[in-house]
Amino acid sequence: MSYKHIELVCVHCGHRMAYNRPMPACPQCGEDILRAEYDLEPLKYGNWLRRLDGRWHDIWRYHELLPLHDTANIVTMGEGGTPLIPAPQLGAMLGLRHLYLKDERQGPTNSFKDRQASVAISVMREMGITEAVVASTGNVAMAYAAYAARAGIKLWVFLTSLASSEKMREVALYGAEVIKVTGTYDQTKLVANRFARQKGLYEDRGIKSIAAVESMKTLAFELAEQLHGRAPDWYIQGVSGGMGPIGVAKGFEELKALGLIDRVPAIGIIQSAGCAPMVTAWKAGQPIATPVDDPATIIATLSTGNPGRAYQLLWEIMQRYGGAAESATDEEAFNAMRILARTEGISVEPATAVTFAGLFKLAQSGQIRPDDVVVVNCSGHSMPVEKHILGEQWQRELDIASASGRINLPTEGLLSALEGVHSDLNRVLIIEDNPDAARLIQRILQTRGDFAVEIARDGAEGLRRIQQEHPDLVITDIMMPRVDGFQVIEAVHNDESLRHIPIIVLTAKELTASERERLNGQIAALLQKGSSLDEKLLQNILTALN
Ligand SMILES: *Cc1c(COP(=O)(O)O)cnc(C)c1O
Ligand SMILES: [Zn+2]
Repeated sequence: MSYKHIELVCVHCGHRMAYNRPMPACPQCGEDILRAEYDLEPLKYGNWLRRLDGRWHDIWRYHELLPLHDTANIVTMGEGGTPLIPAPQLGAMLGLRHLYLKDERQGPTNSFKDRQASVAISVMREMGITEAVVASTGNVAMAYAAYAARAGIKLWVFLTSLASSEKMREVALYGAEVIKVTGTYDQTKLVANRFARQKGLYEDRGIKSIAAVESMKTLAFELAEQLHGRAPDWYIQGVSGGMGPIGVAKGFEELKALGLIDRVPAIGIIQSAGCAPMVTAWKAGQPIATPVDDPATIIATLSTGNPGRAYQLLWEIMQRYGGAAESATDEEAFNAMRILARTEGISVEPATAVTFAGLFKLAQSGQIRPDDVVVVNCSGHSMPVEKHILGEQWQRELDIASASGRINLPTEGLLSALEGVHSDLNRVLIIEDNPDAARLIQRILQTRGDFAVEIARDGAEGLRRIQQEHPDLVITDIMMPRVDGFQVIEAVHNDESLRHIPIIVLTAKELTASERERLNGQIAALLQKGSSLDEKLLQNILTALN
């Protein structure tokens, strides 16, 4: 039942061919990246997206623009249809007013590779393929293994030894053959390719596979629906091979060709600093990336050292629609992971955390503007939390038996034991009349773990508590009713016993020259609210406390 007309077009020479079997390369010129083109005419009558109303919210909702001829071949587990979640706390921290997270953690195997697996395995079923080979850094392996199990397809999975053992075991659980390759991801792909050719098996070719790129368009279709018929200003993603953003951009292009949106978003690509060939090339203004032979990152998911043609395609897309590229170290990524988890309640895997660390930089540098509508692909879940992320101090131990010398503990003993736990914390007092702002500062602080944070709701209460509690640090607003920040600061400064306590001023008000003069010499730092707060604030706090 072929009701669709799909053609493949060579991205190099433009040669066209019908799409009805796996096509490894252009027969004219040998180019191995081919692009699927659909007959859009039948979708142009009425608003295609609005006509989808009665359909399920999975990727097959958009089957007219997916590379499968017969819907009877669909292999699905409800992938896609993930929520678009506003991130107001993180947004406030970064000075971004319209920050959204596309929560791809909610897929059947917890990453956005479920979209790819559903389309790729469905296409294999349609083409009568019963045994296949795939190379992966982890998530493709899990997703393909799960869908292949449902389709009864035997799967050989080549994983780089960098992939976490939890992920490898999950792949094995689905019944796939797991081959662990001690080497880089690029080397793993070569081994998988050789194996597939020797055994005459079908090999999924990642970015060069039509199914894989096409599947990513569904992210764009969903975003256009979730944003009520408009495209965001930015689509931001952590990038390894680059399939996601290439597919997403193509999805928006098709919607634009159908007249359903007015533009394609700018693309923000973020890579791990230890393996950032695309970011390096982008920053040097080059359309071709120099391969990284020896990726220096423990984040396996983002360890494509040689992006090949994919980067050129991305380069062209980013030239056309705008874009930005940033990299982040593993350390910065783990920090971003904690901030995201503690401000928005969202736990992501390290590759996704890299995305957020990069987002912080793009917001801070002003490349993303405060009013831009920004969508970040929350590409994968951190489960289980990998050991190196929290360090040693992630739990406080309270051994009741040894604290008291016996098991049956009087309340008094428990309280003093708890006090002992608290006493080595840095005690910070926040004076802030806006409860949301106060909670945000509290959360930012707690992303660094070792702070006991108290909140005073106005200047009078704040001053009273400073006098009684002698906190290690005060963070205060300026504009507050009755006793304002200036008065608090002056009172502290004029009191011999309090003068040593560092004060950080955090204000939304543009201070006049004379107001600045008033604060001069009395405070540790002055920060402006509404601009990006996190790193500067933490730096200032850590400096003030030392
Ligand atoms: C695959 C993957 C990426 C990178 O995706 P590409 O678009 O192929 O570069 C990022 N994050 C997660 C969680 C992934 O699984
Ligand atoms: Zn060609």
